[in-house]
Amino acid sequence: MALARLSKISLELQYLVSTQLGPSDLLSLSHVSVYWRAFVLDDNRWAEWYSGIVSHSDESLQEFLARFNIPDVCSARKMVYLCLRQWCMSCGDYSQDIQIYLPHMKRLCDTCLADDKYTVLSFSAAIAKYDLRERDATGVLILEWCNPNRVSKRAIKLVSEAHIKQIALRQWITEANLEAHLSQKKASALATYRERSEDYRSAVSTREALQETGNVIAADSVVIARTGRKIPKAFPAYPKIILPSKPTDRKVVCFAPRPLVEVDGDVWLDVCDSDSEDELSANPTSE
Ligand SMILES: [Zn+2]
Repeated sequence: MALARLSKISLELQYLVSTQLGPSDLLSLSHVSVYWRAFVLDDNRWAEWYSGIVSHSDESLQEFLARFNIPDVCSARKMVYLCLRQWCMSCGDYSQDIQIYLPHMKRLCDTCLADDKYTVLSFSAAIAKYDLRERDATGVLILEWCNPNRVSKRAIKLVSEAHIKQIALRQWITEANLEAHLSQKKASALATYRERSEDYRSAVSTREALQETGNVIAADSVVIARTGRKIPKAFPAYPKIILPSKPTDRKVVCFAPRPLVEVDGDVWLDVCDSDSEDELSANPTSE
């Protein structure tokens, strides 16, 4: 009954009512009916609130997402909601320092973030580790990251290891199947590597022996015995599937929002933020 009446009030009134509501109430209202859900989604204040989200280092969330080339990864509504709830979505702990872990769009405390399921790997390392091809992982969330400590300005593609493992699990159905497949792959990759290393070493020592005798032409024509190919310039590379790929610091893909508060149907940055207190205590004599 109440719901029917609510939808019958004039559009102007509906608008007026909604402007008095903040994000939390709007979200509750959106669960009332399809009509109100559309009404809530249409509210242009979501974009306004979203654009006001900044990190502790004063980078806006929009700038942060653009830096990873994922500007549209999540709706403004979801982002506002995530930034308002200051508790860990894994253990439930409450704190103002709970960051948003971008690959899973989750707020996580430092302890939960250390869990293996939040490991961040480069895309190439991750697909090699799970014996996938690039096209198997189409559609996976990739964050393009420019490491500020590197001279190269080329972005590294980062992924959540869990996302890649999920794709591998879809192919192999069970964890046990996947493990069995990977250990068999690793064993054969290792055998091939050993064989190639042996071939390389023996060809190089033959060449060196010939060079010592001064027979340059014969030395230059030494090939890998098994394949008949030229000796490669470098020692065979260790198989990527076995090489422990170094994970990237997961904090790199975390956004630490300044706390937001809802006041009278609006959203504000929390002025009691710990940073401001630090600034105050750092300048106790400033007037
Ligand atoms: Zn936690």
